[in-house]
Amino acid sequence: MELSDLKGVGKVRLQSLTRAGIVSIKDLLGIMPVSYMDTTSPVRVKDLAEGHEACVEGCLQGAPRLRYLKGLSIVQVQFTDGEAPLRLTWFNQPWMARQFHKDEAVVFYGRVQNYGGSLCMLNPQRVTFKALTPKYAAIENVPGKVLAGFIAQAIDHIDGYFPETLPQRILDDYGLSSRNEAVIQAHRPTDCTTLAAAQRRIGFENLLFYQLAVRLTHKREEAGHRLNVTSKDLSAFRAALPFELTSAQSKTLEEIFCDLTCGRSMNRLLQGDVGSGKTAVAFGAVYLAFRSGLQSAMMAPTEILARQHVATAEKLLAPMGIRCGLLLGGMRAKERREALANVESGEWQLVIGTHALISGSVKYRNLGLVITDEQHRFGVRQRKILGDKAAGDIRPHVLVMSATPIPRTLALILYGDLDVSTIDSMPPGRTPVQTRIVPDNKRGQLYGYIREAAARGEQAFLVCPLVEESLMSEGKNATDMYEDLRTGALKDLRLGLTYGSQPSAEKEETIARFSRGEMDVLVSTTVIEVGVDVPGATIMVIEDANRFGLSQLHQLRGRVGRGKKPSWCFLLGEPNERLTALCATNDGFVIAQKDLDLRGPGEFLGTRQHGRIMPEAYGVTDLKLIEETRSCVEGIVALPQEDLERIQLEQTAVNKYRTALENAAMN
Ligand code: ADP
Ligand code: MG
Repeated sequence: MELSDLKGVGKVRLQSLTRAGIVSIKDLLGIMPVSYMDTTSPVRVKDLAEGHEACVEGCLQGAPRLRYLKGLSIVQVQFTDGEAPLRLTWFNQPWMARQFHKDEAVVFYGRVQNYGGSLCMLNPQRVTFKALTPKYAAIENVPGKVLAGFIAQAIDHIDGYFPETLPQRILDDYGLSSRNEAVIQAHRPTDCTTLAAAQRRIGFENLLFYQLAVRLTHKREEAGHRLNVTSKDLSAFRAALPFELTSAQSKTLEEIFCDLTCGRSMNRLLQGDVGSGKTAVAFGAVYLAFRSGLQSAMMAPTEILARQHVATAEKLLAPMGIRCGLLLGGMRAKERREALANVESGEWQLVIGTHALISGSVKYRNLGLVITDEQHRFGVRQRKILGDKAAGDIRPHVLVMSATPIPRTLALILYGDLDVSTIDSMPPGRTPVQTRIVPDNKRGQLYGYIREAAARGEQAFLVCPLVEESLMSEGKNATDMYEDLRTGALKDLRLGLTYGSQPSAEKEETIARFSRGEMDVLVSTTVIEVGVDVPGATIMVIEDANRFGLSQLHQLRGRVGRGKKPSWCFLLGEPNERLTALCATNDGFVIAQKDLDLRGPGEFLGTRQHGRIMPEAYGVTDLKLIEETRSCVEGIVALPQEDLERIQLEQTAVNKYRTALENAAMN
């Protein structure tokens, strides 16, 4: 059977499918649902959770009422499940007012939202029969519902498309269903129990092969430059710093020292909370490379960050005799030529830049160390590109820095190819940021506080979530917010605005002016999340805080509290377990663990908008599965190299994940 045999697949859709990499029925059936609409098990109104989709069963307490607001129709009706009431609301569906009558027994399915302090269901669908219905993410020109239709047609022809990949022994040991059966159940579940079994099977397979593939790419034994340095050099670096390294920084720097002097190439992740002082540790590595006559390159995710690192290097490394310079994509031709010449001649012993560092025209001189900051994790392929530019045949040492702590269990999976060093305490003299939840009715007071702070010369960030295209989104669009404040509550202050799609020159200019203290308040979307260092900023306001993930909120909070003055983070929204957790601690690892407990590992492992982590997190819903697959992997790699089962499993793993691991950055 071919895709073109499916009803509804014409030339245009076939092209769209092809562009999305779906060229066969097997590819089509390999698309896993993003979620399920479960109308088999109604939830009690008092157990409803904001943001979740759920099914409720009960009756209507009145007749639906229709009104119009600014040309938008709103139908509302009060529903009860006999225990507690729930408001149902439809926007732009005026006909809904005529669909139901008072006291009618009904079942509804929809998203639960917080509306002015009480829960309501927005645009719910009436449920006429109980089922578990898979939902698929749309691909270009093919809405999710249409895709669901194609898959439903194809599912009857599944036989033989999904041969078993796991040996019987593993299926038995871990109680897993067959692969074919699992795929069928994922698309057409009979009930929650069999669906859970199918998800477990598919999740198990993905985790197992992913971990195997990661292990195979991790060639610990690969030769690396053995730096010609001793612990005296390490002490010299310490002594030359304007501050004393914390014990956590010293410990990680020593781990790096061992890597650099053992003759194997370093492949290390340096993780530590925002502000924990990763840069100084990384510069320690640069110093050691420099002492051995090797060049270093440091890659940052944005130009702003790259410039900031250059400024820090001027302060810390230049006095030690290390010459460094900047290389950016958007440089003028002359500047760029000069920069390239300085890199090639070795005039610059440290070159800092953006992605431009790995472009083909850059020639290094004795490149021995590559550092990447924040989000920019290297995939195997990028490492190879830089490796090819390195001195001789030996690839450079690689140090990856991350400010997004992840729990250890997950770190082992995601970074199985890296050794991990953790800076687990902060430099002294910090005043921890205080965090408070601010309900909407205290907004006036908050603005008052910002005005007072501005009068003292302090600055504030104000972050708005991205606006969804959905109707009547309650999200505060950064631009609207800016206009409101500029002409209203904060009209006497100097305000700036920045967001992701702003032209980059304008964005840089705005952020630069804010850093120089020429603005009191910077209204923005999460573009400021990564690394911006503004010591004068003491206030972080986060609108609609419940829309952000915990770890993301923590990252945003890390933008303040960098100076000596006490800093505050204000979370606008209703108090709940998540926000309360954030108020209770400033420790990124505790928060990451909490995030994991609350949301499960799928969110951590799954695709994020920018850069993938684990390509297929489908079915990965519990930590137990992670533990199980890890022990299974241990068993496999303990088998002799020539064991047939091991060879086959490793081959499958490589086939399945090679491209993903080569192309995708690790985060
Ligand atoms: P991050 O880990 O977020 O990259 P940075 O490296 O930018 O953190 O360090 C944050 C700030 O702390 C910088 O201003 C840096 O100079 C300072 N710092 C780093 N280590 C120490 C230390 N041991 N003692 C005092 N200040 C330090
Ligand atoms: Mg940093």
